Amino acid sequence: MPIYEYICKKCGNTFELIRFASDSDSDIECPKCGSEKVKRAVSLPAGSQKSCEGCSSSGSSCAT
Ligand SMILES: [Zn+2]
Repeated sequence: MPIYEYICKKCGNTFELIRFASDSDSDIECPKCGSEKVKRAVSLPAGSQKSCEGCSSSGSSCAT
């Protein structure tokens, strides 16, 4: 199943959702503030998460 990362434009929160091809992005809400102003950031192939936990919060600054 595809996992997508979303970024809330209102509060900056990032979260991941499993979305099916038939699902629209229009009804996604930020789980933190409830805003619907979110954008899809990155698609994450299942099981390929990095082991470095510092990366996710600081963007692509990880040297790996
Ligand atoms: Zn938010």
